[in-house]
Amino acid sequence: MICVLGAGRSGIGAAKLGRKNGEKIWLSDSGVISEENKKVLYSLGVEWEEGGHDWSKILNCSLIVKSPGIPDTVEVIVKAHQEGVTVISEIEYASKYTQSKLIAITGSNGKTTTASLTHDILVKAGVNVGLVGNIGKSFAESVAEDSHDVYVIEVSSFQLDGIIDFKPHIAVLLNITPDHLDRYDYSFDSYRDSKYRIAMNQTAEDHFIYCADDAGITEVIKNKNILAHQYPFSINENDGMTGYLNNETLIITTKINTYNMSIYELALQGKHNIYNSMAAGITGRILELKNDFVRESLSNFQSIEHRLEFVAKVDGIDFVNDSKATNVNSTWYALESIKDKTVLILGGQDKGND
Ligand code: ADP
Repeated sequence: MICVLGAGRSGIGAAKLGRKNGEKIWLSDSGVISEENKKVLYSLGVEWEEGGHDWSKILNCSLIVKSPGIPDTVEVIVKAHQEGVTVISEIEYASKYTQSKLIAITGSNGKTTTASLTHDILVKAGVNVGLVGNIGKSFAESVAEDSHDVYVIEVSSFQLDGIIDFKPHIAVLLNITPDHLDRYDYSFDSYRDSKYRIAMNQTAEDHFIYCADDAGITEVIKNKNILAHQYPFSINENDGMTGYLNNETLIITTKINTYNMSIYELALQGKHNIYNSMAAGITGRILELKNDFVRESLSNFQSIEHRLEFVAKVDGIDFVNDSKATNVNSTWYALESIKDKTVLILGGQDKGND
């Protein structure tokens, strides 16, 4: 029997995939499971509990698939480790049951934007591609229900903490700046190492795209033995970069050809989106998609809601919704990209960031 901890999107996805593979599933949630999800569990034939954990049942399972929202420090996980039960994340579980090409994208900021852009380029190129993670289905649910040739997966550090063999064909690391430090003993080093896990299982056939301007990334990769092909990008440096700027032209060079485009043609404006567009464009080039598809996507992509989203003009004032900026650095970039006089309204929960 497999235990799924947490009845959120990833937990329900893991339960669906487990049932499809004929596994017996025990789903346990210390909180309340929504009525809608209970119906799904009934229809799947999954046994479940809520409001607490039945230790004997959980610790008798051969494997635990843990939702990313559950910290490693909670009693149930500590006990599982003590008893020698393997605990993995949903992306680790899902990746065991698909042969599709995996493009995994992580970073403190820009994951959803870059994953969506990358997905858009692939769709325009006619690839049978699924976008999973934060938007759309969870990876496990899509592996259970769909049959995509390629997956673009938005991956958080919490998901990466629970991988063992997860190995993307293309890994994208956008930036590493302080976030969620309350889950990493307030240690930036631990958080950084967690983000690097996206590339740790890659081999010489794989590809690793990363931002060379980000001190968090350059610091963490300098001591790693990276086997994958490397594709650094920068807006400050040209030397040795796969993606860079020449005056106001974005350039992507690969063995096959060179792609260039004025930064004013980019649909998503702001310095942070130049980085995101470079990362998505490099992925397109690695997959040898025609430049036309990359150009069409980078120049027409509609911004996603809650991310520097223009809401309305009232009495001559533009109102912008950037509620997805949930840490210091994302707010920094958002403000930097706005040239007009700005009133910032913000608040939120402390995650241990300075
Ligand atoms: P995530 O999925 O990592 O939370 P999003 O793509 O949803 O990131 O973007 C959230 C916010 O982060 C955006 O509204 C923007 O303010 C900021 N942002 C986006 N891309 C970047 C980037 N590459 N670097 C820094 N900040 C960014």
